[in-house]
Amino acid sequence: MPHDRYRREARREKKEARREARGEKKVLRRETREAKKETRREKREELKEVRRSDLPHAEKRELKREIRRDAAERIRDIRTEKKERKAEIREDRARALAEADPFRWSDAQKHEVNIRTRRVLEFYGDDRNGTWFSYLHIHQIAPSEILHPQTLQELKDLVRRAAAKGAHVRAVGSGHSFSDIYRTDGILVDTHRLDRVLPLDALRLRDSLADHDGNPVERRHLFQIEAGMRIQKLNEELDRRDLGVLNMGSYDGQTFAGAASTSTHGTGIGLPPIPDMILSLVLVTARGEALRIEPTNGISDARAWREDGIERLIQDDDTFYSVTVSMGCMGILYSAVIQVRDAYWLEERKERMDWDDLRERLREQGGYGGGILDHRHFDVLINPYVSHMSTGHDRGRRQCLLTWRDFTDRKRHYAHETRGVRGAERWKARDVKFMDPEGTARTINTAFRLMGKHYINVGHRVFIVGADEVGGYACEWGFPMNRYLDAVDVILGVIDQAVHEGAQVATSPFSLRFVRAAKAYLSPQHGRDTCMIEMPMLYGTPGRPDEYALMHRYYDALIRLRGRPHWGLEFSDLTNEGGLLEQLYERFRIWRDVRRRLASGGMFDNVFTDRLGISTG
Ligand SMILES: Cc1cc2nc3c(=O)[nH]c(=O)nc-3n(C[C@H](O)[C@H](O)[C@H](O)COP(=O)(O)OP(=O)(O)OC[C@H]3O[C@@H](n4cnc5c(N)ncnc54)[C@H](O)[C@@H]3O)c2cc1C
Repeated sequence: MPHDRYRREARREKKEARREARGEKKVLRRETREAKKETRREKREELKEVRRSDLPHAEKRELKREIRRDAAERIRDIRTEKKERKAEIREDRARALAEADPFRWSDAQKHEVNIRTRRVLEFYGDDRNGTWFSYLHIHQIAPSEILHPQTLQELKDLVRRAAAKGAHVRAVGSGHSFSDIYRTDGILVDTHRLDRVLPLDALRLRDSLADHDGNPVERRHLFQIEAGMRIQKLNEELDRRDLGVLNMGSYDGQTFAGAASTSTHGTGIGLPPIPDMILSLVLVTARGEALRIEPTNGISDARAWREDGIERLIQDDDTFYSVTVSMGCMGILYSAVIQVRDAYWLEERKERMDWDDLRERLREQGGYGGGILDHRHFDVLINPYVSHMSTGHDRGRRQCLLTWRDFTDRKRHYAHETRGVRGAERWKARDVKFMDPEGTARTINTAFRLMGKHYINVGHRVFIVGADEVGGYACEWGFPMNRYLDAVDVILGVIDQAVHEGAQVATSPFSLRFVRAAKAYLSPQHGRDTCMIEMPMLYGTPGRPDEYALMHRYYDALIRLRGRPHWGLEFSDLTNEGGLLEQLYERFRIWRDVRRRLASGGMFDNVFTDRLGISTG
């Protein structure tokens, strides 16, 4: 329904609801008045009768007292009934008002959610009282123990102790995933203290090194870290050595292992997701053994290999590409050797466009968009709504915001940074909260206009858009290049339908990011260049029947299109019913076999593995 009509109808229905409530209250007041009057009349009659009777004086007095008491009691009942009826009318009115305009919340409600958001953004992790909070407090876990190992030996020891007790174990990073993947009733292993840079000397590397595609890699572009290191620290360490990550997401609070385990990605059709940057890793398995795992043609020289504290070297594609994206199901990742590059600077530009025009352009070359994706990084933010009441160019046209990033020799330009708002996510989030579609459409269009259009900085600073400053959760789905535009149409249909049925407003633009085909078997980008479509929601956006109303609707629609959900975002409706995972991932069976081999006995099982039918216990 066009938003101006929606607003007019909502106003009319609200007026009607208020009028009805006023009418009901009037009737109630009249009925109460009459009931009281009647009670008092009856009391007078009864008293008169008693007075006229020839009963003894004492008895008459007693009877009169009883009549007065009864009448007072009845009046009290009438008053109570009136109060209850009044509350019911108030509730009915509130319900009718909410139904007439389900998306508008009072200022008090908005204020409360804003306060709550700030509080939950400030703290996540272990509260030292045995409870662990995920980012945004979506999950609150009370495991049997929370441990913080600091060395490989401590990690192996704790796994061996857990094995002896038959306890479940789960590694956790920064808890930024939105689903239940890290939940456990057993031992939660907080990996943040495993965050050192490790020298490469201990490795016996081959003379000629290659990446996953067989391209030569220089030794100085290999960097070994413990897997609990946050991306932020990784960038600082690389900066110090004049190096840089190949690519990253739009945020740096995750741990390296957490990000790799869910196939966290950035954007750039020539660039793979984080797990494909790993060339070698060390995993602690359910037996408490440390294994160095690499692809079949891995970087270690197998004949010369020997490493203190590491039991075995496995060079096998199936094992390696299963472990790199394994959501904590195969063991605990201790360290990784990643491919990096020389430090670089990026120049970012943004441009507003009508989505219909961009869509036509992207359609060219089977979704590769006639050169538009040739930039090193390219992404699109799409307004979920069209404004029908704006007086500007955007009236009746869906707006989107394009971002390009390319290498530059130019250095940081302060003038460019101060103009406009840097960061795609810092759009006037609070104003969008709980607005109706028209309000949301206009606020997002304004935000697109306000955003800084030009920015230059060191690579990793340019990637970060301040996603954590707003407080939102999201689902994200991967589609092959020839199908993602159809998926966008379906998503827009879902959003419209949700408004039509009063379910929920999409309180954020949604994004398209492009990722090169990944090797990791369970990466949503496995085997095909992929467009990842992310649909965020601001924390606290009300919905019917619950706050995940749109998330459920996206799931139903996108699983039918055979989209692959991002393992680090919201996908709590996913199960393996009807062999769904095999249909989504051609190498799922191999992945499951590797899991059985490395994680038999169920140590790394949890509600997530139960839900997906991949528990081994
Ligand atoms: C503000 C924000 C911005 C984000 N931006 C992006 C983005 O730009 N691109 C993108 O793709 N995603 C993005 N995400 C999603 C995020 O990258 C993933 O959820 C990521 O997995 C979080 O990393 P983490 O360290 O918090 O891991 P957690 O959420 O703690 O854990 C994720 C999984 O990894 C496992 N795990 C963690 N550590 C280990 C280990 N050492 N060994 C074995 N398993 C382990 C856990 O058991 C769990 O299954 C974002 C999320 C947020 C909240």
